[in-house]
Amino acid sequence: MIVLKSPIEINKRLNSFRERKNTIGFVPTMGALHKGHLSLIKRCKSENDITVCSIFVNPKQFNEAKDLDLYPRPIEKDIILLEQAGVDILFLPGNESIYPASYSQPFLNLNGLDNVMEGLARPGHFSGVAMVIERLFYYINPSKAYFGQKDYQQILVIQQILTQFSLDSELVICEIIRETNGLAMSSRNSRLTDEQLKNAGFLYESLLQLNMDVRTLPLSLAIQNAKKSMSHREGVKIEYLEIADRKTLNALETIDQNSEAIALIAVNYFGVRLLDNLFLS
Ligand code: AMP
Repeated sequence: MIVLKSPIEINKRLNSFRERKNTIGFVPTMGALHKGHLSLIKRCKSENDITVCSIFVNPKQFNEAKDLDLYPRPIEKDIILLEQAGVDILFLPGNESIYPASYSQPFLNLNGLDNVMEGLARPGHFSGVAMVIERLFYYINPSKAYFGQKDYQQILVIQQILTQFSLDSELVICEIIRETNGLAMSSRNSRLTDEQLKNAGFLYESLLQLNMDVRTLPLSLAIQNAKKSMSHREGVKIEYLEIADRKTLNALETIDQNSEAIALIAVNYFGVRLLDNLFLS
């Protein structure tokens, strides 16, 4: 695996692969890798000639300094995992190369996606995501880029940014990888105790129950029931639970068999934010 820190250098290398008609697949991450990240890499490798993974803890997408400080950064372990996974190039830029002193934030049109759910809960978060995506895609210009459904709203933001900046990479949405109790894997889960991890399956269970309830109950009642059952649990503060249209994230009041609905949830569990979602069927 080649490790590159300079954006100019990776851009040059990738151009030489492109000249040889190689397809380039890209998996952007913030490190602290787990099986969810590795599943994206596996898919990327199966669909592209060259697999690039980036690790960059993007300061601009953290709306709380403490969250940025606490973000795990086990870089040596990550490098071993990426080598074992067969990644061709690891892009490991520093802050100053992604955001040099000359960097000025471009106009970003997030199409209202920053005004709902994660956008409301974390002001400035999606502008930060948009900024880093614009930078990373400018240098890497992948044929395809791989993202986990776990961060569903983020995928819509990224699609919007690719459209705004006329970037023609294809986004591939990959399934959520879960622990055996259903908890979606996340780098932040390492901040939970073993006991908390064991009990955190309630989040996915609530989504599965909600998927059943919406068949017989009005959506607002189904949501209310799900919130009630979760809020009794120790350590749980619900930030939001919404049922929305998959393309626009506009909240839905009713659904039928033609609806393309998704339930999205965020809870604070013993001080750790847990996100999950489920396509309703
Ligand atoms: P992060 O390092 O948290 O920025 O995540 C990097 C990529 O991995 C994003 O596209 C995430 O959606 C994806 N990802 C994170 N957790 C999972 C998971 N449990 N299953 C599948 N993909 C995931």
